[in-house]
Amino acid sequence: MSEHVHVRINQGLGVTENGELLEHSSCRCGATWTKTYRVREEDSE
Ligand SMILES: [Zn+2]
Repeated sequence: MSEHVHVRINQGLGVTENGELLEHSSCRCGATWTKTYRVREEDSE
């Protein structure tokens, strides 16, 4: 098997039930990743 370097292609954003930002990405080989970001409310008045 030859080495394969994954290329993460952004598949879009979503929001989880917890209100976190969800980022989907995938490679042409079929590998997928999901990454969540905590959205903090620092500027609440
Ligand atoms: Zn790949």
